Amino acid sequence: MAHTSEQMFDLAVAGAGIFGLSIACRALKAGLRVVVLEAEQVGAGSSGGLLGALMPHMPARWNPKKEFQFQALRSLQGEIEDLEAQTGLSCGYRRCGRILPLTTTDKLEHHLERAEESRERWHTAETGFSYVVEPTGSRSDWLDAAAAPHGIVYETLAARVSPRAYLASLAAFIRAKGQLREGARVTGFDEATGAVQVAGSTASLHAKNLVISGGFAAFDMIENLTGERIGRGEKGQALLLDGAGLEEMPAIYCDGLYVVPHEDGTVAIGSTSDREFVDSTPSPSRTTELLQRATTFCPVLDGRKVLSEWAGIRPRCHKRDPLAGLLPGHSSTYAATGGFKISFGIAHLIADCLVCEMTGETPKHPLPETFRSAHHFGANRLEADG
Ligand SMILES: Cc1cc2nc3c(=O)[nH]c(=O)nc-3n(C[C@H](O)[C@H](O)[C@H](O)COP(=O)(O)OP(=O)(O)OC[C@H]3O[C@@H](n4cnc5c(N)ncnc54)[C@H](O)[C@@H]3O)c2cc1C
Repeated sequence: MAHTSEQMFDLAVAGAGIFGLSIACRALKAGLRVVVLEAEQVGAGSSGGLLGALMPHMPARWNPKKEFQFQALRSLQGEIEDLEAQTGLSCGYRRCGRILPLTTTDKLEHHLERAEESRERWHTAETGFSYVVEPTGSRSDWLDAAAAPHGIVYETLAARVSPRAYLASLAAFIRAKGQLREGARVTGFDEATGAVQVAGSTASLHAKNLVISGGFAAFDMIENLTGERIGRGEKGQALLLDGAGLEEMPAIYCDGLYVVPHEDGTVAIGSTSDREFVDSTPSPSRTTELLQRATTFCPVLDGRKVLSEWAGIRPRCHKRDPLAGLLPGHSSTYAATGGFKISFGIAHLIADCLVCEMTGETPKHPLPETFRSAHHFGANRLEADG
């Protein structure tokens, strides 16, 4: 094959959401020649949202997935500091901590056990991350005491990031060291020749490997290539309020909602979950509902101006865990999708594992078996989740 060096890449990445950009960034650090092909523009999918909650799983019934996520949340701060130093662009990251209300005596009992277990799981003596039950009325200047009749959990591992600023910083890194093409929808990949097909383009573009990271659209692409549908999209909605003076407050998770103060003086509230949806535009009735629910447990937000509303369709694998790996029956076509609600916290470690799989290096932390193809395809596949 005769290709100019400009058109021949080690890796083509289809999709510039948090997964695709993180993978491209990690591959560039490994010295690979990388092109990111994005159908619309950076952040056009569910990664271009408002919330940016980086929340741990409960420190109970520990498993490899929880350990992976813990290691990811632990290492993300350093990863982001490195990215910010290289690009000069803030990602709006802060380890803000999180409040959870305790609404029943049962919950109080459970969380006291979790607080005990967290010391081992979160290596509190070494890391300083704590998960503590505090009495009724604690931090009631932020979470209304009436919403937490049995006290609260206050934990210090949770963090937040500005989703759009993080994407912009990753994109800047990629543009400086590799290539990022917007308006480039990938429609096919020929493993034998390495030809990558891009809608509406006749220019030849070749890559040794392709990663499909097209968010919920990846499930169609994967089905075309493997004959199996392993996931679906689920719509969620969030909104942004004027949050001046609240920047230093911890995140709250209450009544199924996150309230996340950001460094630019805004507070994000989200998110809802809708399996049935027509498109990704925000619904006014959802906005009203989000505001009502949030101000009930966080009265300080009452009357604050709504700055923007946003909805997106997040990818969810039927098996719930994300997929990161080679597609069955393929030798150079990979997929990374299905992070659902935790993508921002784990994307850099997913990227590390995937790139190490391509280069033969040892990943910083092994990928849980439940994230691998074998868990999602074939006999293990579910038609739909419950
Ligand atoms: C309301 C809401 C709130 C959320 N809050 C959080 C949160 O607080 N914390 C968290 O971690 N996660 C959160 N999530 C989930 C998170 O946003 C998603 O899990 C994550 O963005 C998925 O990233 P992705 O890179 O897999 O896909 P996406 O961000 O959807 O990116 C896919 C990209 O691929 C492009 N594309 C599609 N097909 C092609 C193709 N053929 N060729 C080229 N490009 C293509 C799309 O245009 C898109 O830009 C939230 C989601 C929603 C909806």
